[in-house]
This record gives sequence, C-alpha cells and structure tokens, in this order.
Amino acid sequence: STHRVEIKGSADAFDVADGQPILDAALRAGAWIPHSCTQGTCGTCKLKVLCGSVDHRESPEYTLTGAERADDLALACMATPQSDLVVEPTGAVDDGVPHHPLRDYLGEVVELSDVAANTRRLVVDLDEDMAFNAGQYCELIVPGHGVGRQYSMANPPGEQRRLEFHVKRTPGGLATDGWIFDSLAVGDRIDLRGPLGQFNLVHQQAEPAILIGGGTGLAPLKSIVRHALDRELVPEMYLYHGGRGRADLYDVEFFTDLAAQHEHFHYRPALSDESWDGATGLVTDVVVGDFRSCKGMSAYLCGPPAMIDAAVKSLKRRRMAPRLIFREEFTPAA
Ligand code: FAD
Repeated sequence: STHRVEIKGSADAFDVADGQPILDAALRAGAWIPHSCTQGTCGTCKLKVLCGSVDHRESPEYTLTGAERADDLALACMATPQSDLVVEPTGAVDDGVPHHPLRDYLGEVVELSDVAANTRRLVVDLDEDMAFNAGQYCELIVPGHGVGRQYSMANPPGEQRRLEFHVKRTPGGLATDGWIFDSLAVGDRIDLRGPLGQFNLVHQQAEPAILIGGGTGLAPLKSIVRHALDRELVPEMYLYHGGRGRADLYDVEFFTDLAAQHEHFHYRPALSDESWDGATGLVTDVVVGDFRSCKGMSAYLCGPPAMIDAAVKSLKRRRMAPRLIFREEFTPAA
C-alpha cells in the first residue's frame, strides 16, 4: 500500500510505499525537500507534519528531540508515513538550483587506485547517465549488507557516465575497511543511488570563493572547481587542501597544472604535521593567515566535522557572512 504526501506551498505531491522514507520518495518523484546527510544526523530535512501521522523509525534523539516529535516535526530521511500527509519543510525549498531526480544505478568499477595514505580513487562507469549538480554525492550500497554509505562525486556534472570518488579508509569500517579497501576490484558491478545532497556552487558572487577540503573532503570541491572553471562561474577561487603529511595529499599535480592554466584559480595545499616548502599548519589557520578580511567572500567547506567547525569559526572572525558559508560534513553513519 502507498500513502500520498503533499508538500505545502508547492505543486509537489508524491506516493510513498510502505516503509519508504519520505525523502527517498520525494526525490525519486522529482520533488525537492532540503536535505544534506540522508542518515538522520544533520537535521537539514526536518519537516513539520501538518496533517497525518508518521513513524519516526530510527530518527536519533539528538537530531529529533521528544519535544520536537510532540510538536509534529519529523526527519524526512528517516520517517515513513502512517497515513496520507501534508508536510512543510523547515528549510527554504527553492534554492534557485535545478534538481535532478534520485534513481538507482548500476555501474562497473573501472579504476581503483591508492592515491594517498589510506585513500583510494574509485572510478565507476554507470550503465546509464546520471544528471547531478557539482558538489552532490551518491550512496554506494555495500554488497551483502543492503546498507549504503555516502561518497561525493569528484568529477564535474558534464561527465554523467563516469563517476569519480575519493574514499578514505575508516579502521573497522563496514564500507571502507570491509569492502572498498578489501574485496572490491576492477570489473566488479556495484549498486548505487543518487544524486543526493545540496552542497553546490549556489551563489554567483563578484567576490572570491574560498574552498577548504580536509582529506577526501577534496572530492566535491574538485567537482565544483572543474565545473566552475569550465563555465567561468566564479571570478576568483582559492582551493585549500589540508592533510597531516605529504602522504595525505593527492591530485597535487592536477591542481598545480589547473592553477597554471587559470589565472583566477589558486591552489594551496597545507600540511599540519610536516614541514615542507608549502603552507604549514592547520589548514584553517593557513587560510586565516592568507586573508585579513573575508567580507563579502563565500566559502565551501568539506571534510570531517571538527575541521568544518574550526573553519567556520575562523571565517566568521575574518568577517565572512554566515549565510555565505556552505558545508558538507562527512559525518559517520549513526
Ligand atoms: P562505518 O562502519 O560507518 O564506521 C565504523 C566505525 O568507525 C563506527 O563506530 C563509526 O562511528 C566510526 N567512524 C566512522 N567514521 C568516523 C570518523 N570520521 N571519525 C570517527 N569515527 C568514525 N567519505 C569519503 O571518504 N569520501 C567522500 O567523498 C565522502 N562523502 C560523504 C558525504 C556525505 C554527505 C556524508 C554524510 C559522508 C561522506 N563520507 C565520505 C563518509 C562516508 O560516507 C562513510 O561514513 C565513511 O567512509 C565510513 O564508512 P564505513 O562504512 O567504512 O565505516
């Protein structure tokens, strides 16, 4: 059986199957609900349920409190309808970006290479094109477990058939240690679904953009940078990549060449635990040292939550407007 869900204030209505999360059904139907992590940890997809009732399923208490449940709020990525619904997203629905429907895809691994310490580049040829926005991600389904893990596309959206991912190993991790760094091999067929997320180059600003990636947080920034340079979308871009040592950096030559070809693109890798001829220190401290004021500038931050928190604090101290700071946090699965 299915339930009908209407999004208040939009023309969007869609059917949700038994047990299906509201967000999954909405995105497959081409309707838009603001969302980020799709695993219950960020709270971006919080909805007000105006009519009907939902099963919150595994919605964590730290993202959706008892008081919020009593107030008819729900996480669209977790909750499933128990009746027909009218819902209202708490985030802005129209962000001025065209959105592409979520779908299931099959692909074949065509490259799997070690590019840095505990870091692999995974390239997948899809059976069909996937339309997505630079900065979005896919969920790769771990074989035999039926669960997915999120990985950001590093290729620009002009390349719709061949997706590039950068994967960091998590010791004991189900998807990484147990699969991508273990049994996965070139030629394997994999299941994935996408595109997901709303991290993308939204604002066409006259002022420069600062992009900061920690570790494999470089992936969506690579997609954004390549896309922006192809389309000449941003006047000035400063890409920072942070790692502990030289062994953590990758694609150095790629970005060095890109910077040599594009006058308004700048690339600054930074090492926190090793001295070398480049920038030294925590990547956020290096950024603060490079700019006396970030007024009017925007930032795109991606990586571990601790790095993002530090970057947001530093950029605000340099007078960057909070609404111009965009982020994608690589939060671990709950
Ligand atoms: P799990 O089995 O999920 O974790 C194993 C154990 O380690 C658990 O106890 C878990 O809590 C803990 N753990 C996991 N990660 C951490 C951590 N960072 N710090 C401390 N403890 C941890 N990763 C990439 O490498 N590249 C990407 O492009 C990328 N994009 C992402 C995009 C989004 C929107 C999100 C939410 C995450 C993204 N991630 C990315 C992270 C990725 O989805 C997985 O969480 C990660 O690869 C670990 O999965 P796993 O199954 O190996 O580990």
